[in-house]
Amino acid sequence: MKVAVDGAKCTGHARCQATAPEVFALDELGYAVPGEREIAAGAEAEARRGASACPERAITVWGDPLGRPAR
Ligand code: SF4
Repeated sequence: MKVAVDGAKCTGHARCQATAPEVFALDELGYAVPGEREIAAGAEAEARRGASACPERAITVWGDPLGRPAR
């Protein structure tokens, strides 16, 4: 699975990092580090919780939790 943070939408609430500290990191100004990255095995549920916590809907989580390619 993958996660992406849209830096253009992020306004720095830090809720994602507070909810899912293993998945989301903040920069020195308190904004989520933008971009796309792979989610570590076992962190999928945490990633989804972090994405749900974002009031700006700046986070997208997608892909198969078992790593199978999308159809
Ligand atoms: S919760 Fe959303 S708006 Fe806040 S830092 Fe995380 S991605 Fe940015």
